[in-house]
Amino acid sequence: MEESLRDPGSWIEGIIRDFLKGSPDNTLQDPTGEKAFEDMIVGFSSGDDPLFDAYKEHVGPFHWTPWEIFTRTFPERVAAPDELTVISWILPQREATKADNRKEERYPSERWARARIYGEEVNVKLRKQVVAVLREAGYEAVAPMLSPQWERKKSDRFTFASTWSERHAAYASGLGTFGLCDGLITPKGKAMRTGSVVTRLRIPPTSRPYTEHHAYCLFFKDGSCGECIARCPVGAISKRGHDKLKCLSHLRPTTADYVKARYHFDGYGCGLCQTKVPCESGIPEGILTS
Ligand code: SF4
Ligand code: SF4
Repeated sequence: MEESLRDPGSWIEGIIRDFLKGSPDNTLQDPTGEKAFEDMIVGFSSGDDPLFDAYKEHVGPFHWTPWEIFTRTFPERVAAPDELTVISWILPQREATKADNRKEERYPSERWARARIYGEEVNVKLRKQVVAVLREAGYEAVAPMLSPQWERKKSDRFTFASTWSERHAAYASGLGTFGLCDGLITPKGKAMRTGSVVTRLRIPPTSRPYTEHHAYCLFFKDGSCGECIARCPVGAISKRGHDKLKCLSHLRPTTADYVKARYHFDGYGCGLCQTKVPCESGIPEGILTS
């Protein structure tokens, strides 16, 4: 029996691992050809997981269920929600990238800015590679973030949101919970990029070791920590949470101008709230020991 049927979860993990290890596309595009990512964790959730319906209330009615984006992409194919799987992955930032950004207090380090721009390009190519391998093996697949139908929307509750959220896909797939600063705290930390693909292939869902969406954040556990508040150079994080507009106006134009002038490429980034904090590289100690 083919591995895609015998152990589809391991087969998918292998596709991602092989890409990170062997693809020349996995690069920060610096003169030394340094890799963007070395490590990964992968999780799976079922297309009929009730969380995806709940996101319509929590994120907005426009947020797609896996079935909706599958059916929009393949309108001629009939699939039941439980035939679909969301494949979600976390690409932790490398130690060198985090170490450089820990030293910064206002602007991103060069490695971080490269990881934000070229690292995300790697993540886009990874989504395309996972889709291509699945389709070649006979399984319809789509990366929702790469769909021409993907849109950013205005949201009363969140200022703006989108028709598919990678972090919410990762939450559903057992990969982490949200922090005070909105980032997803995963077993490999909050300094990471995440991506996902929806496919018609049944893969056993990854168990979610949490029932509450802030379970891994110390602030929501007992009011402690809040270190991401102090890390933000523009006051975009407070005990009330993350002010997306303040954050965005720092990213662009402020950090974009800085990256261009200092590092000589078109980019932007910040991530100060993702580094030099207790949830940077793992679930905080105080959560694991409680
Ligand atoms: S730095 Fe502290 S308060 Fe902020 S998200 Fe991480 S654990 Fe939560
Ligand atoms: S990314 Fe930067 S500006 Fe945005 S909340 Fe984090 S520290 Fe603040």
